[in-house]
Amino acid sequence: MRKFVSMLIPFMFLSFHQPASAQKIEPKELKAAIIIDDFGGGTGGVRDFLEGEIPITAAVMPFTEHSTEHAKWAHKYGIEVMIHLSMEPKRGKRSWLGPRPITNDLSAAEVKQIVRDAIKDVPYAVGINNHMGSLAVENEEIVLAIVEVAKEKRLFIIDSATSPNTKFPKIANELGVPVLKRDVFLDDISSSSHVRQQMIRLAKVTEIKGSGIAIGHVGITGKVCSIGVFQSMDEFKRRHIKIVPASGLFSGKSTEKYFIPLKKGS
Ligand SMILES: [Zn+2]
Repeated sequence: MRKFVSMLIPFMFLSFHQPASAQKIEPKELKAAIIIDDFGGGTGGVRDFLEGEIPITAAVMPFTEHSTEHAKWAHKYGIEVMIHLSMEPKRGKRSWLGPRPITNDLSAAEVKQIVRDAIKDVPYAVGINNHMGSLAVENEEIVLAIVEVAKEKRLFIIDSATSPNTKFPKIANELGVPVLKRDVFLDDISSSSHVRQQMIRLAKVTEIKGSGIAIGHVGITGKVCSIGVFQSMDEFKRRHIKIVPASGLFSGKSTEKYFIPLKKGS
């Protein structure tokens, strides 16, 4: 042991005492993802986001009139697609959930069937995040059923973080499914200046953690959200933060074989 330590010392000396100019320190690339929820539902802001210049990620609600069309449209414009899976909240109107939500009264087999059908309804999807869900994300059996299908179909998970007691991170980690959590909601207040403020929060989180995830929405607040996001891009350039598709936040050997990120034009 002693010999080993003494062998290490010259190397330690080298690495700690080189002049700063001789060291090659690669600046860590700062990356943020902007996931826009509720595609497939409302149409406000849809065209702005899909045909805009920013590589947002489109989270598409399955089983709606426009689900498949929006997913195909996004793919055509090189926008990454995710499934926006509706899940039962603690509070809220039933109508906010849309068709075929995941509710706590369903069996694991029923949950799996919904997720499998959602994958068929939202082509090109590479990941899943949850719509609402403050109740159902706390239910281990429900979350396990979702994560098992995600694993089978090689989809990653972004926890929308609608409950502090969400089981997604724990269960996804246990099953080896890539998972990350939302940091900032962009449009909980519908004004473009609020969206810009939240984008600054996203930038600050990204500078601290190295990466960050924001969630905004199309629909009633969609136009306002798109304006706020587009107006914030100069600030992101100034801070050298790159906007990437959600899959671009996963790195390392453990995840690179798990899923194949979308390549533009593929
Ligand atoms: Zn939603």
